Amino acid sequence: MATAVCMATLMSGCEAPSLDFLSSKKEQVSQPASTGDSSGTETPAEEPSTGHGQGSSAAHKPSMEETIQTVEGIPTVTNPEELYVIVNKQRALPSDYVPSDLTEPNVPFPFKDKVEKRLLREPAARALEALFAQAKQDGIELYAVSGYRSYKTQKSLYETYVRTQGEAHAAAFSAVPGKSEHQTGLAMDVSGLDQATRLEQTFADTPEGMWLAEKCAAFGFIIRYPKGKEDITGYAYEPWHLRYVGVETAEEIMSRGITLEEYFQESSSS
Ligand SMILES: [Zn+2]
Repeated sequence: MATAVCMATLMSGCEAPSLDFLSSKKEQVSQPASTGDSSGTETPAEEPSTGHGQGSSAAHKPSMEETIQTVEGIPTVTNPEELYVIVNKQRALPSDYVPSDLTEPNVPFPFKDKVEKRLLREPAARALEALFAQAKQDGIELYAVSGYRSYKTQKSLYETYVRTQGEAHAAAFSAVPGKSEHQTGLAMDVSGLDQATRLEQTFADTPEGMWLAEKCAAFGFIIRYPKGKEDITGYAYEPWHLRYVGVETAEEIMSRGITLEEYFQESSSS
C-alpha cells in the first residue's frame, strides 16, 4: 500500500513532495510541492525582467522552438521569467533560476510552517488571492497546499530518493531538478478542507474541485494537467494543480479544453 501511495503521488506533476514525506507517508500525500501559477491581468511595473508582465497574453506567443536551448546537455528554456513559460519533461528551467518576485499570498494554508512552498510570484499571488476571495463568496473553502519549490529543494529531494530508494526508483518516480513547474513560482496545488481528496484525482468530483475547474480561468489560471492529455503534458490528471498564465491565455486554454503545450504548438505551426 505504501508503494502504491508513493507511486501515485510521484507520478504526478507535483511529484516533489517535501522531504519530510520520507518519514511520513501521509505527509507525502498531503504536501507535495509544485510550482505556482497565478492569475491577474496586471503585472507590477517594477518587474525586472523583460517580456513577462503582460507577456502572457496571446499577443506575445513565441513558438516552443524559439524558447529552448541546450545548456550542458539539457534542453533548457530561454524565457524562465515569462508568465507563459512552458516547463515539462523536455524543457527544464535553468538550475540557477529563482523568480525575483516571490511573495506569500494572503490565503489559507493547511500547515503552519513558514516554508518556501507558501510562495508564488507576485502576479500569481495576487490572482490566487482574488480566486480564493471569490470562492469564499461562493461558499467554497480552498487551501493553498504547495506553491514554489526551488531547484535546490528539488535536487535534494531527488538525491534523497536515489539514496533511499535507488537510482531506478528515483529516475522513474521523482522529478528531475529543473523540470518541476513549481520552480517557476507560477503553480499552486489547491485543495478543499477534506484531506482524503487532497492531491488526489477524486478532488475533481468535490464541490471545491468542480468550482475550481469552472472559475480558475477567469482569474488567469489553468488546470495544467488535464484528463485525457497525459501524452501531451507527460503527467497524470491533476485537478488540483493550478498554473498561472494570465486571464486571456487561461480563458482560451480552458474554454477550448487544450493544454499549454498545444496552445504554443499551434503558434509554431501557423
Ligand atoms: Zn503541483
